Amino acid sequence: MLEIAGYIEESLTDGPGIRSVVFFQGCSRNCKDCHNKSINEKGKGKKITINECFNMIKKISNNKKITISGGEPLEQYNNLLKLTKKLYENKYDICIYTGNNLKEIPKELLYYINYIKVGYFDNKKTNVELNYYGSKNQKFYKIEKGEKICLKEI
Ligand code: SF4
Repeated sequence: MLEIAGYIEESLTDGPGIRSVVFFQGCSRNCKDCHNKSINEKGKGKKITINECFNMIKKISNNKKITISGGEPLEQYNNLLKLTKKLYENKYDICIYTGNNLKEIPKELLYYINYIKVGYFDNKKTNVELNYYGSKNQKFYKIEKGEKICLKEI
């Protein structure tokens, strides 16, 4: 089962375009300036199956652009990968927000997604001019897939 904290149907700040966002429950990193502290405790979210989550996304997303955020989605990696594969097979444009660094992201996951935001939020490095994230230590990549997977910072 997946544990989620909730969703929003339309966002302009969680990746390119108008995107629906699903928030995974739980993050054990415990960053001091976390903007989502209320959803970081595991066991306090809603438990749903991969199919239930997929059907929920189908209902809330009109344009098939979906961002998976948290919490820390990679702390539910097996279920994240299953959900992502299902979304990929159904031709969704997929973005993942993680507090992990790029080196910590499994290569397999990158194959199925279109964008990734990496790095935790650091209040001392806040920059309001950044498009899809809040602090300068974070990075946002578009994933281009040819013979090799190629990440382009945007
Ligand atoms: S990694 Fe992100 S969600 Fe997790 S505690 Fe840090 S800022 Fe919050």
